[in-house]
Amino acid sequence: MKRDDINKRRVQLTEQLAELDDTDALFAAHPEYRVAELIHDATCHANHSDDCFWLYESWSKIGSTRNAYLLRAQKLIDAVGETGHSLSAVFAVLEAL
Ligand SMILES: [Zn+2]
Repeated sequence: MKRDDINKRRVQLTEQLAELDDTDALFAAHPEYRVAELIHDATCHANHSDDCFWLYESWSKIGSTRNAYLLRAQKLIDAVGETGHSLSAVFAVLEAL
C-alpha cells in the first residue's frame, strides 16, 4: 500500500471514529434513539432508502419514519418500565433479536 493510500485511509478512519464518538454521545443523551434504531433494524425488511426512507433521515433531521420508530421505542420503554425493569432490559432484549 502506498503512503498516499495509507494517509487517505487514516483520514477515513479518523472521520469514522469521530462519527462513532458523536453517535455514542447522541445515544447517551437520547437512549430512545438507540432503542428506535434497534427496533427498526429488527423489524424493517424494506429497502431503507426507497421504501422506508430511514436512510434519508437522521437523528438531526427526524422525519415521519424515525418519528414512528421513536413512538414505538417510547411505548416499549414505558411498557418495560411499568414491569419494574430498567432500560438495560430493553436493550438486552432488542440486541438479542
Ligand atoms: Zn427500514
